[in-house]
Amino acid sequence: PSLSRLLVLVTVSGGSLVAYADASPTNGVPSIASKANGDEKKKKVVVLGTGWAGTSFLKNIKDPSYEVQVISPRNYFAFTPLLPSVTCGTVEARSIVEPIRNIVRKKRVDIRFNEAECYKIDAENRKLYCRSNENNNLNGKKEFVVDYDYLVIAVGAQVNTFNTPGVVENCHFLKEVEDAQRIRRTVIDCFERASLPTLDEEDRKKILHFAVVGGGPTGVEFAAELHDFVNEDLVKLYPGLQDFVKITLLEAGDHILNMFDKRITTFAEEKFRRDGIDVKTGSMVIKVTDKEISTKEMKNGEISSMPYGMTVWSTGIGTRPIIKDFMTQIGQANRRALATDEWLRVEGCDNVYALGDCATINQRRVMEDISAIFSKADQDNSGTLTVKEFQEVIDDICERYPQVELYLKNKQMHNIVDLLKKGSKEDVAKESIELDIEEFKSALSQVDSQMKNLPATAQVAAQQGAYLAHCFNRMDECEKDPEGPLRFRGSGRHRFRPFRYKHLGQFAPLGGEQTAAQLPGDWVSIGHSSQWLWYSVYASKQVSWRTRALVITDWTRRFVFGRDSSRI
Ligand code: FAD
Repeated sequence: PSLSRLLVLVTVSGGSLVAYADASPTNGVPSIASKANGDEKKKKVVVLGTGWAGTSFLKNIKDPSYEVQVISPRNYFAFTPLLPSVTCGTVEARSIVEPIRNIVRKKRVDIRFNEAECYKIDAENRKLYCRSNENNNLNGKKEFVVDYDYLVIAVGAQVNTFNTPGVVENCHFLKEVEDAQRIRRTVIDCFERASLPTLDEEDRKKILHFAVVGGGPTGVEFAAELHDFVNEDLVKLYPGLQDFVKITLLEAGDHILNMFDKRITTFAEEKFRRDGIDVKTGSMVIKVTDKEISTKEMKNGEISSMPYGMTVWSTGIGTRPIIKDFMTQIGQANRRALATDEWLRVEGCDNVYALGDCATINQRRVMEDISAIFSKADQDNSGTLTVKEFQEVIDDICERYPQVELYLKNKQMHNIVDLLKKGSKEDVAKESIELDIEEFKSALSQVDSQMKNLPATAQVAAQQGAYLAHCFNRMDECEKDPEGPLRFRGSGRHRFRPFRYKHLGQFAPLGGEQTAAQLPGDWVSIGHSSQWLWYSVYASKQVSWRTRALVITDWTRRFVFGRDSSRI
């Protein structure tokens, strides 16, 4: 029977643990396993990474029946949204970091930290191969193996250079705290070099040309910060150099901030032009040497070069080697990030979860399942579903996709859906629902592409970390009493509700105490009032009272005394 129109007829119808170095080495590498002192062995959860996702998981895990081991080359959490402020000394580097040991210190869960990097995941044997940081000990790197019952992968992503020649050697990145500190030193360095009496005007112009590659939120915010730093502070300290300073923002696409509302994009481009920041859109960087950046115009293919003093590369994120290696092992090669289901479980691996920038939720399988349900209904019941069947399918889909619920409401099916949800079958007995399956499928595929494009942001990572911790906290409870939707494959319900992302809005600071804010419901606000909103949100989102106090003090210091331009 044809599926082009499906008529849905409503027919009523324990003990403490110690981590220890195992005497028996694994591949010649000492192994760290968990050992229970009491009768009951605690389940061991290993968390890789102390970024947004990993830290949010650690902050929210409450069940003391787990033993948690954290492995990360960074022994701190960094508040990345303020990294651009660190590049110009608006905020100090130490004000935006909090030691991970401090974050977990007061928790009732047994959490241990190792400053090391995991370089290989062996999911088959539940082993992680790790090595300590180089600067940790004078005898070189130490290697060890860690085993786990549950693995939470939250290693984030690395900078993506798109294999552009010369980028790694000659550009600055803005991903880690060290990057921001390096940029700060280099900016001052450029001004000091340009002040030397031996230089001619051309040299000064070259040294004071700051190029920013990438018109996304990070590149734009850095360009704005740099402009403020130069115009509010450095011009007073380096008189005579102002005329030589140039900031160029290079973007391969047609517009900067293209993930924002058009009003914001236009405002930002116009503001930058007014401020004298040279915004070159449709201009792709193809090569960077130690002296020049070569660009290709997207419209006419014209290639040109410009000398520079400092270049900051900020064009998006790529996959870390450990994730690439793991994806090859589990048959997920050629993806940008690890594919998980909606419960953040890595597809094809037991007890392995991935969250944050290193993961992406794979909706394809769910879409196939939904189509399969309708096909099955069509074959089994000659195109009809009972109230119960329909209710289950709709509940399940709506639970996964809030946007579908909206679609159904728009189709004026909400009365029936609501009635079905309330279960008052008598009221719906007389009704029948006609559902255009093709239209429904196309709505689902739009939803599908939206879901696939969950942004790689701190917001997503933090929400995923908190979600997963809540699942772990209620593992036993929900085993007995599952709260999730019906399983498409197999029988019964899923243990937990799937992860649902709540978008809380995004900011784009544009300099001069002006910020663009795009809040839920496409509410757009640009200007000084949004800047104050930005200050309050970023102060409130700090991971501890200590960093909150430090960041607010830094902002106040900057208002009163300006930014510090010492090159230390
Ligand atoms: P990360 O926060 O990058 O953390 C990864 C962790 O894994 C780190 O602790 C790292 O040391 C560790 N790690 C790496 N390799 C290994 C390994 N092999 N073994 C063990 N551990 C490892 N998002 C927003 O929502 N709003 C913003 O305003 C915003 N601004 C940003 C500004 C900048 C300059 C940058 C760089 C990012 C910004 N983001 C923002 C994006 C946000 O920072 C990321 O999306 C977020 O950090 C992702 O979190 P994560 O936990 O997946 O990864």
